[in-house]
Amino acid sequence: MDFDDSPEEAVWRDRCRAFLEAHAALKPERVDWGESYWAKARTVEEEAAYDLRCRAWQRAKFDEGWAGLTWPEEYGGRGLSSHFAAIFAEEEGRFDVPQGPFAQSIGMAGPTIIAHGTEAQKKRYLTPMLTGEETWCQLFSEPGAGSDLAGLRTSAVLDGDEIIVNGQKVWTSNAAEAAHGMLLVRSDVEQPKHRGITYLLLDMSTPGIDIRPLRQPTGRAEFNEVFLDDVRVPVENVLGEINAGWGPILTTLTNERTGIGGQSPMVDDAIELARTFGVAADPVVRQDLARLHTIAATVRFLGYRVRTAASRGVPPGPESSVLKLANSRRLELSGNVTMSIMGARGTLYGDDAEMSGFWQNYAFLGQWMSRIGGGTDEVQRNIIGENVLGLPQEPRPDKGVPFKDIPV
Ligand SMILES: Cc1cc2nc3c(=O)[nH]c(=O)nc-3n(C[C@H](O)[C@H](O)[C@H](O)COP(=O)(O)OP(=O)(O)OC[C@H]3O[C@@H](n4cnc5c(N)ncnc54)[C@H](O)[C@@H]3O)c2cc1C
Repeated sequence: MDFDDSPEEAVWRDRCRAFLEAHAALKPERVDWGESYWAKARTVEEEAAYDLRCRAWQRAKFDEGWAGLTWPEEYGGRGLSSHFAAIFAEEEGRFDVPQGPFAQSIGMAGPTIIAHGTEAQKKRYLTPMLTGEETWCQLFSEPGAGSDLAGLRTSAVLDGDEIIVNGQKVWTSNAAEAAHGMLLVRSDVEQPKHRGITYLLLDMSTPGIDIRPLRQPTGRAEFNEVFLDDVRVPVENVLGEINAGWGPILTTLTNERTGIGGQSPMVDDAIELARTFGVAADPVVRQDLARLHTIAATVRFLGYRVRTAASRGVPPGPESSVLKLANSRRLELSGNVTMSIMGARGTLYGDDAEMSGFWQNYAFLGQWMSRIGGGTDEVQRNIIGENVLGLPQEPRPDKGVPFKDIPV
């Protein structure tokens, strides 16, 4: 690909900068990660204030036509190619603006509804995502169905023009704040497991939903268990067809992997940490930092590749698994390298630690966000093995077997 802007792209980049400069300040040359979201556990009030700032910034973008750049114009977007959105994201990344709780809504639910939704669903849901008024959560994983998502057992029974849902979801990020959920249910146990699943758009204020927070090792509780007890969902909230949820599911998962894979590297900060600890000349540390630099560059170029494909109208495919896997490797390495640079001081936490525990939280404990969330590293390797390298498929003894006959 060509890394330089075309004349049209250069004009667009200037317009992006003009908007951003009018509304936000540039990030300082050296970001103080010790003050960032990833370093410190915040109080409930601080979390709420941050959430408001995120929504205000999203609203400001929407009001001036900078939200949903690739989304259709009739739902509040701009109908542009993803190349232009990528340039805006690059420029926005240089500014000190709050990046909010929109990964599940704008990053995942939106593209899925655009691809599979009815006209009424697009009209109802898309614009409030872009304005930041309504956030979403992803009700996919269950206690017995994570990697093997098609093994999900939350039940759905049709009752007139409603579907009655019973079951439990788990690891549901940001469920407590979400207005809606992407909910997967087992609607036909007579069919094999990848069929007989229905994708529902769930109003999270529906009676029968019980959300219970789960505390993480970082001290935060973004995760939740969600219990669904006789929850009634109107049939008009089915996304796609009843029993044919697997197509929309793949759209959501591919967008999720692309989003997780696209996070920014911080190699310079790790190098600075080595200088602070007086080990920048240590040959082993230098070798580790060189490895980190290499994997960070790989992630960046893979990101360009995914975006270039998208700008040519090719939707993200298995390369999003490669990107996500490379990003997991980057986070794993940055966690291990920075902990080894800090030595015994790496065991400190919170205000006692270097940069208020940023490296401990973001890179060391946080690596599991990418290594497990959105599909584990092992599952990404399976996808790459089968769909990219053409290796033989994993044995699937339950293939074609009616779901009700698969042993629990
Ligand atoms: C930060 C974070 C956020 C999340 N947010 C959400 C959310 O908002 N909504 C939601 O629905 N879920 C969410 N999840 C859940 C996540 O999708 C699951 O944890 C993940 O899919 C793994 O499922 P599991 O935990 O059941 O592990 P399991 O599937 O039980 O896997 C256990 C181990 O076995 C390995 N394994 C399983 N199958 C295979 C195989 N076929 N080949 C090789 N190895 C295999 C796995 O790699 C793993 O090491 C989140 C998870 C994290 C970490």
